[in-house]
Amino acid sequence: MAAHQEKKLAEERKHQNIQNDTKAFQGQWGRAWEVDWFSLASILFLLMFAPLIVYYFIMSCAQYQCTLTDPLLDLLTGNKHLSDIWNRTPMLTSRAAGIYSLWVTFQVVLYMSIPDFCHKFLPGYVGGVQEGAVTPAGVVNKYEINGLQAWIITHMLWFANASCFHFFSPTIIFDNWIPLLWCANILGYAVSTFAMIKGYFFPTNAKDCKFTGNFFYDYMMGIEFNPRIGKWFDFKLFFNGRPGIVAWTLINLSFAAKQQELYGEVTNSMILVNVLQGIYVLDFFWNEAWYLKTIDICHDHFGWYLGWGDCVWLPYLYTLQGLYLVYHPIQLCTAHAIGVLMLGLLGYYVFRMTNHQKDLFRRTNGNCRIWGKKPEYIECSYMSVDGTKYYSKLMTSGFWGWARHFNYTGDLMGSLAYCLACGFEHILPYFYIIYMTILLIHRCIRDEHRCCSKYGKDWKHYTTAVPYRLLPGIF
Ligand code: NDP
Repeated sequence: MAAHQEKKLAEERKHQNIQNDTKAFQGQWGRAWEVDWFSLASILFLLMFAPLIVYYFIMSCAQYQCTLTDPLLDLLTGNKHLSDIWNRTPMLTSRAAGIYSLWVTFQVVLYMSIPDFCHKFLPGYVGGVQEGAVTPAGVVNKYEINGLQAWIITHMLWFANASCFHFFSPTIIFDNWIPLLWCANILGYAVSTFAMIKGYFFPTNAKDCKFTGNFFYDYMMGIEFNPRIGKWFDFKLFFNGRPGIVAWTLINLSFAAKQQELYGEVTNSMILVNVLQGIYVLDFFWNEAWYLKTIDICHDHFGWYLGWGDCVWLPYLYTLQGLYLVYHPIQLCTAHAIGVLMLGLLGYYVFRMTNHQKDLFRRTNGNCRIWGKKPEYIECSYMSVDGTKYYSKLMTSGFWGWARHFNYTGDLMGSLAYCLACGFEHILPYFYIIYMTILLIHRCIRDEHRCCSKYGKDWKHYTTAVPYRLLPGIF
């Protein structure tokens, strides 16, 4: 009896040790296990206020010509009550619910049912079945990369409708903008709640789940690393790319169509916003396979931050410039327009080339040429949950020798260009550059914290070799 109990205790201890080891290893480079008060306060703030912020911006445009201060002044001076603003806000309509359901279903069908054919005829494009990075549990997921195809089919249908079939007006998105906001919120909350329940009861890979024990943190930052339904429906890839990013360019086109309807012309500022953001979106889909190696897929768990963020925050706040230009149809002077175009293209070039250099370097394991020379790098190693040791390299050549996140610098230059296209009268279109600056600086810190835990002293060598984050000599 005593021997049996001892054996049972020993087994329990062994099990406990395995759990602790898992925690210790994952804690090295995955998402946080413990929640500090600052993270908790930020999360509670975002959970409470992010939906309100989106509503406030969109309502300010619909009711106050995009002036952000006027609604507040009206409320503070008693000129208006909250109920006055709310009563003028369009509610959820069955038409919007129908449009949104059709939209999401269509994107699911494109994602799930049509294997990629673009890689068969587009030289240089990487599509079809591709592998993601090693997860903290040592899993390598496979993905069907067919986002470019989904984007092309969706836009071809959009243009076919606008020019030939006329089943619906191209202003349909603008005309239902606030009712669609309620639909996007319903989907965003539904998918985040489902992801939480799934993480607890039927996770795709239990070893890649993280529970902090704090409900709000787990809901916001997610439990499962790569939740899936079946073999191919990957929540992160689907919600990150479609429906939000495919919609981004359609939303801008709808805003341009509205300008045409209201003023009989599309301004050069609207064209600039459509073109520059169109390049960014197309770049995203052209490089979707590369995207599997970015922080969103390699580090973030799937919770409200990604689920709600992709459904609501991204399509509504990333498109504020186009929305603003419907209410303020600005025609820029030639010098201003060329300046915006040059800044946008330069930003895009820096963003793409920096990302390309890292991708090339990693794909060829350093056997490539960067700016005509063999790249320099620092050798590093890390471990996964099962104790397997992996080796990697951190490049110190090209843009990666200038700063540790020069790709973010390029992204910020492009983001500033979209905002500058809207002139200088209002702060609302500048929300994007303010938000991106906060997001990307926070990302720098998050990524560096993760890399430091992952690579230890090797990361320290790297930061000594490349001391600046975004701007050489400054930050
Ligand atoms: P990165 O593409 O910069 O990836 C960071 C990772 O790259 C690190 O965790 C590390 O991963 C690896 N790495 C870091 N330094 C080096 C080096 N010197 N050599 C080789 N590998 C290195 O970051 P993101 O995933 O955040 O961003 C990808 C792009 O997406 C960026 O251009 C960003 O601007 C853009 N972006 C856009 C957003 C938007 O909303 N518009 C939001 C977020 C990002 P490892 O563990 O493999 O070593």
